[in-house]
Amino acid sequence: MQRRLRVGIIGGGIGGAALAGALAQRGIEARLYERAPAFGQVGAGIQMTPNAVKVIRALGQWEALRDASFLPAAIVGRNWRTARVMFRTPLRDECPKLYGAEFFHVHRADLHRILVGLLPENAATLGARCTGIRQERGVAVASFEDGREAEADVIVGADGIHSTVRRDLFGEAPPRFTGNMCWRAVVPVDGPVDFVSPDSSFWMGPNGHVVTYYVRGGRAVNIVAVLETKDWVQESWNVPSSRAELTAGYAGWHENLQTLFSRTDAVFKWGLFDRDPMAAWSVGRVTLLGDAAHPMLPFLSQGAAMAIEDAYVLADRLAAEADPTVALRAYEALRRPRTARVQLESRERGRTYHLASPIAQLRRDVSYWFRSLINPHRSGIQTNWVYSYDATAAPPLREAA
Ligand SMILES: Cc1cc2nc3c(=O)[nH]c(=O)nc-3n(C[C@H](O)[C@H](O)[C@H](O)COP(=O)(O)OP(=O)(O)OC[C@H]3O[C@@H](n4cnc5c(N)ncnc54)[C@H](O)[C@@H]3O)c2cc1C
Repeated sequence: MQRRLRVGIIGGGIGGAALAGALAQRGIEARLYERAPAFGQVGAGIQMTPNAVKVIRALGQWEALRDASFLPAAIVGRNWRTARVMFRTPLRDECPKLYGAEFFHVHRADLHRILVGLLPENAATLGARCTGIRQERGVAVASFEDGREAEADVIVGADGIHSTVRRDLFGEAPPRFTGNMCWRAVVPVDGPVDFVSPDSSFWMGPNGHVVTYYVRGGRAVNIVAVLETKDWVQESWNVPSSRAELTAGYAGWHENLQTLFSRTDAVFKWGLFDRDPMAAWSVGRVTLLGDAAHPMLPFLSQGAAMAIEDAYVLADRLAAEADPTVALRAYEALRRPRTARVQLESRERGRTYHLASPIAQLRRDVSYWFRSLINPHRSGIQTNWVYSYDATAAPPLREAA
């Protein structure tokens, strides 16, 4: 009788937890190794777009996600100084009809809790920092800082943008600083307030943009404030900044933003890094997933969504193929083209959002306006191709997206 497949997952963030859950759903044994001593309340808001919501639903967690989320009315593009609406893409009523799932706003900690809830008991080892991977005699072996080792038939590096597994497979190559930094803050509120509309609001200005939206059922507002900078800023969930630093970055921006900024308490700053798409993710029995494979700028709000899609497709292929190396090749073939396109388009969006010249801004805004007259979903951030994809469909359909 054939032995059950054992999968080792390095990293228990969004992608690692989603993979462990998707494997458990298929009866595949998975062990997850996370360097943090506990699964904690890390992060800020995340936009869960319909393509990711379809996967969460297939994992049986749609109700839990809905209960923790806020349903935005629309994505609204606004002028940084006047708040003039440049485009309005309806979401709440349209997404289920157009893409087969909702567009939710959720706090990362809530999303992570929901995904970690899918792990079978004792499947996670915390405080386990992976230091290296090797392959021998038909198995893969992970080594940890404390000297422990773990063997598996397949090891997946879901260990984020500074992935140790990636380094071991493909060599040292630091991610690229994109010249953008962002401030992140979550402002508690009693419920929707008049200076924050119930949308995903994109405020576009010279050399930067600000996104605001509600999370936690409308009891908090998430701020992502991006600015181009010549100074290198570290990539981390927890580099402290301040209200004063945030406010100084956006002098002259609209008063609604100033009011919101004045209510911030804990403000964090974050360097934005990405990579060029990779030519391969796997070597033998070891592969990559999520930011370890394709870190991207957050300008299409897809980093976590791509990690969740990867997780579902990888679990599906590992369940379908008897030979895990064939499964990894099929996973890559399905996932690399899509994630590469999202990586590159996310980069491109930064250029459109941050135009500094008033003439270029006017040209962009007129084009937004004209396209919305024809079809609001063809305007603004133009993401139909991202949202319509269904990672839970049979493989040929995925490729047709
Ligand atoms: C400003 C900003 C806004 C964003 N907004 C959105 C959004 O709206 N929508 C969206 O979909 N995405 C968004 N993202 C992207 C998203 O947060 C990431 O892409 C996503 O968290 C990646 O998931 P992951 O599982 O690959 O990595 P992570 O969630 O980073 O998890 C990696 C895990 O690996 C662990 N780890 C690392 N090294 C080791 C090691 N050596 N051994 C063991 N464990 C290890 C880490 O502790 C961590 O828990 C945003 C990102 C930023 C910066």
